[in-house]
Amino acid sequence: EVVVVGSVNADLVIGVDRRPAPGETVLGSDLVVHPGGKGANQAVAAARLGGRTGIVGRVGDDGHGRLLRDALAADGVDLAHLATTSGPSGVALITVGPDGDNSIIVSPGANARLTPADVAAARDMIAGAAVVSFQLEVPLPAVQAAARTAAAAGGRVVLNLSPPAPVPTDLLALCDPLVVNEHEAAYLLGGGEPGEPAALAGALLKRGPRSVVVTLGADGVLVADASGTAHVPSPKVEAVDTTGAGDAFTAALCLRLARGDGLSDAAAYAARAGAAAVRRPGAQPSYPTPAELP
Ligand code: ADP
Repeated sequence: EVVVVGSVNADLVIGVDRRPAPGETVLGSDLVVHPGGKGANQAVAAARLGGRTGIVGRVGDDGHGRLLRDALAADGVDLAHLATTSGPSGVALITVGPDGDNSIIVSPGANARLTPADVAAARDMIAGAAVVSFQLEVPLPAVQAAARTAAAAGGRVVLNLSPPAPVPTDLLALCDPLVVNEHEAAYLLGGGEPGEPAALAGALLKRGPRSVVVTLGADGVLVADASGTAHVPSPKVEAVDTTGAGDAFTAALCLRLARGDGLSDAAAYAARAGAAAVRRPGAQPSYPTPAELP
């Protein structure tokens, strides 16, 4: 149903009271290592919600690579096109503040080696998916090749502009929807402070995607397509750690779109998955089964 083309990272997480200034050292909590990466997070989130899910990506031949592979396998993600590269796996250094807010540095490692040739090898898996989900933690040529393959086969392309990076117009035109948070939206519109969300959604639509979803954290989401803009609320939950909430949201959105939901209905379901993900620490460990949705 859903294929994710994207990153697979080990998340190295430390809780802090505050972040160090340059030249300063602060003490944090014990280190916790979680399987992560936006691509792997989305694959696990979709699989845990009951979707038949595959991933196209690369891990390193290190201990993290084995951990990451095992974690995906444990949730039943199809790993036929998860390749192993000699060298380090991708790593994300994450600090979590007292309010559950996170700051992240990503070292791409094996993710940087994902190529259009990998995509060609995974052609049947990509072409067989109802929805193919992308983020920008793997090289753009691989993303472009896979998005073209998906679209040519009649699949739906969902792109999460994260981390924010320039996207060619022809790739943007395939997105249905483009998924962004307020910062990513502001980036795509030329930088500056995030403006009024409804105006953002309309302005993003003018850049060429077939539809747009703007996530607003606890305030839910905006969906926009040719028929107009709508606000979809998120369930009220106590936020413990927002790491990976956007990935849970996007995965759930993809799954419901794959099953034939309209954009607003899919976004309402996805908001429940995003809200569930902030109630527990980490990314993948926080993702809900259908029974755990608020
Ligand atoms: P990102 O992690 O990409 O910045 P958001 O923070 O906007 O994305 O979160 C994605 C979605 O997860 C939101 O649209 C919302 O549905 C849900 N979500 C995130 N934070 C909360 C929260 N504190 N309470 C309820 N839902 C939340």
